[in-house]
Amino acid sequence: MTDVIHLLSDAISNQIAAGEVIQRPASVVKELVENAIDAAATHIKIYIKDAGRSLIQVVDNGKGMSETDARMAFERHATSKIKVAQDLFSLRTLGFRGEALASIAAVAQVELRTCMENQELGTVINIAASQVERQEAIACNVGTVFSVRNLFFNIPARRKFLKSNEVEFRNILSEFERIVLVNPHISFLLIHNDLEISNLPVSNKAQRIINLCGKTLNQQLLPINVETSLINIGGYVGAPTSAKKRGAQQFFFVNGRYMRHPYFQKAISLAFEPFIHASESPNYFVYLDIDPTTIDVNIHPSKTEIKFENEKAIWQIIMAAVKESIAKSNAIPSIEFDREGAIDIPVYDSRQASQSFVPKVNLQKDYNPFRDSGTYKKPGMDWEVFFDKKETNQEDYTYNFELETEEIQGALFEKESKTFQYKGKYLIRPLKSSLLVVHQRRAHIRILFDEFIGRMERHKGVSHGMLFPEIISFTTKEANLLPYLLEDLAFIGFDLADLGGNSFSINGIPAGLEKIDPIESLQNMVAMALETGCEIKEEVEAALALSLAKQAAIPLGKILSDREINDIITHLLASSEMNYTPEGKKILFTIDDNEFEKRLP
Ligand code: ADP
Ligand code: MG
Repeated sequence: MTDVIHLLSDAISNQIAAGEVIQRPASVVKELVENAIDAAATHIKIYIKDAGRSLIQVVDNGKGMSETDARMAFERHATSKIKVAQDLFSLRTLGFRGEALASIAAVAQVELRTCMENQELGTVINIAASQVERQEAIACNVGTVFSVRNLFFNIPARRKFLKSNEVEFRNILSEFERIVLVNPHISFLLIHNDLEISNLPVSNKAQRIINLCGKTLNQQLLPINVETSLINIGGYVGAPTSAKKRGAQQFFFVNGRYMRHPYFQKAISLAFEPFIHASESPNYFVYLDIDPTTIDVNIHPSKTEIKFENEKAIWQIIMAAVKESIAKSNAIPSIEFDREGAIDIPVYDSRQASQSFVPKVNLQKDYNPFRDSGTYKKPGMDWEVFFDKKETNQEDYTYNFELETEEIQGALFEKESKTFQYKGKYLIRPLKSSLLVVHQRRAHIRILFDEFIGRMERHKGVSHGMLFPEIISFTTKEANLLPYLLEDLAFIGFDLADLGGNSFSINGIPAGLEKIDPIESLQNMVAMALETGCEIKEEVEAALALSLAKQAAIPLGKILSDREINDIITHLLASSEMNYTPEGKKILFTIDDNEFEKRLP
């Protein structure tokens, strides 16, 4: 009998390994940037083309590699970071498996240019699908340049499996966020298709957080600082007032590495519970520093879960630390807090502001035209005006709409019967042979949702100019998504102007929605759109419309005038789906006349 077992070629086994380590362009970015950090780079530039499909290039000013190391680096299990098994337990570097470069070179066309200090010439190596194509001496700067072209060019099935450029680039941005937040001592530049996406100077942690996550967090970061024999905890939590319904920034890091930790996250949520609404989530950037021998190092490179030896005790410490930092911030009046400079964040500088085209108006920090005489209530809108506007501005639409309404109304309603409001929550109206009960807020959400979707479909927004434009700032990731949303937002009625640096000025808001908080609405809308994954236009539009409808719909408990009650019923009956909200919640039910007779025989 002949033997059938043979060893796989290096090229094939590297390709198999690549399946685990390199799943998408973002994995390549992560591995290359982590290598640059391990090489002690202080300045890292990342150039991306087509969300990483055609090019991922990472340029660092780290220590570089010798000629032999440059060649060795592409071998599987080739690493400079551990030598003996014992090293595994005291790891302080990001890489250690020696798999990344071998994997990348197995599934792409890679060029490496590298030079060490005091070396006259550097080395250039070209490898494609694990085959070395060129190795030469070359003059180049100290440091390393990796260029990865045409990822998965030799595995069409994997290339096909990639998501849209928007999604793949967003994944790259997620990896970028996780890396830069933990390395504020390194400057980063990120360029996508020749466009500068992020340019982060060397700074302290708080500044890095604000540069990345938006100026809204300025003066909203409460420091955490706890040192115990078990663990040191540093970083910041967002003040309770900065908690968000959607899109809160939540990051855990351990020994310079991003991690997900639902259990520790719970500790933070619990600490915040007394201070924020149940529907909100806190922002946090928590950095754990712990003896590496007490955490499980044998984690897979593409996984972000980490096991801790003393999980319960650490949980308690995190919870106490967060509670304490919230309590401290409450005890100190905010003005003193700023002056104390507990956090080194740049304070608002009017000279800088005018340089970056921020209208002067914004300097009146606490003036808000929406807030009249202190009784400002965020949700709710002048929807009487809203409906009026619609009727005068969009006759063609109103026309169809009324025909339909008349038909339904004719069939359903008792002539001249009145609708009652019950407990500020329900609208009750007799029909021909039953009693109709409508949830007023849900009905209004349905009506507004239809209206906003209609505006987007008709490409017709009615915007109400703002006397005092407000400035909104987004995270790098959100700002990156915004170009895709701007058109739809304009159709809904938001008039936004790009100020650069992830900030936009809100010059107009949807007519009829003058009472909403435009900053909060936009933030929720963008966060909700992000959650959809943004692959399907209809889903994004639905997310925008739903978010705004929920923001603007009349709150429960609001007493309505007869006119308002009738408007709701009329528009609900003409809506695309009167029975359910866009989220699938029931809007109405009826009680049959027979039921009354059964109960009161
Ligand atoms: P690991 O990071 O797990 O050691 P990699 O395959 O990512 O494995 O890299 C292999 C080796 O190549 C590293 O251990 C390091 O010595 C070297 N190397 C990789 N990237 C760089 C870089 N940008 N600068 C200097 N050395 C590098
Ligand atoms: Mg590595």
